[in-house]
Amino acid sequence: MNKPLTVVLVGPPGSGKSTQADFLVREMGAVHVDVGLALRKTAELDTPLGAKVFDIMNRRKELVPDDIVEEVLSGAFACIPPDHMAIVDGAPRCAPQIGIVDALLGVFERRVDAAISVVLSEEESVRRISRRWMCAQCNRPLISGVDFREGNELCPSCGKPLSRRKDDTEDGVRKRFRVFASNTVPVIEHYREAGVLFEVDGTKDPLEIFGDIRKHIESNFSGFSL
Ligand code: AMP
Repeated sequence: MNKPLTVVLVGPPGSGKSTQADFLVREMGAVHVDVGLALRKTAELDTPLGAKVFDIMNRRKELVPDDIVEEVLSGAFACIPPDHMAIVDGAPRCAPQIGIVDALLGVFERRVDAAISVVLSEEESVRRISRRWMCAQCNRPLISGVDFREGNELCPSCGKPLSRRKDDTEDGVRKRFRVFASNTVPVIEHYREAGVLFEVDGTKDPLEIFGDIRKHIESNFSGFSL
């Protein structure tokens, strides 16, 4: 059996990481580990842990402590079928999580084969997030004026009412962008030094970005099972 590929996706809020992860799932059969979504589910729990995660994500807009992220990742990695490409979307998000991700992937005889960084400016990030809505049913972001008509906040796929993420305010996205610049940029630099970084221009059309990612994967990882 060929080695299954493991890819981490990093980028600031609104850079379209989850859209690219969806393409990788649909077009290349990857399994999506969505750390932000798993943490939002934890934040909904009526437990002290749920309340703590809710406060960090939605009020302080900071990073959730590494031990909680480790727990979430450990459960998620255990669910990846051993022969599938895995997309880790949202971790590592700070330098200490690099070792945590490596150690947990090692348990499943995986390692970070490629890190894809979606590059976007703060102003573009704020502009996009101010128009971003979510469909809880389809679990996907939708852009007002692009994916649905303004004033008609219903999911075009399933018809359910759309909602806003609690941390998707202008202040919230600017704070998350600062957290990204100070905590996640060093992670990107680590992968650059390790020679596994691939940067894509997040302002391009999503399909074009996916084309770049696909070409990169197919030309650099032909010995892997995709
Ligand atoms: P996202 O859905 O990727 O935008 O993440 C939403 C929020 O979840 C972030 O602002 C953080 O509070 C939290 N979060 C997501 N991934 C991580 C991570 N790897 N480490 C710590 N906190 C995280």
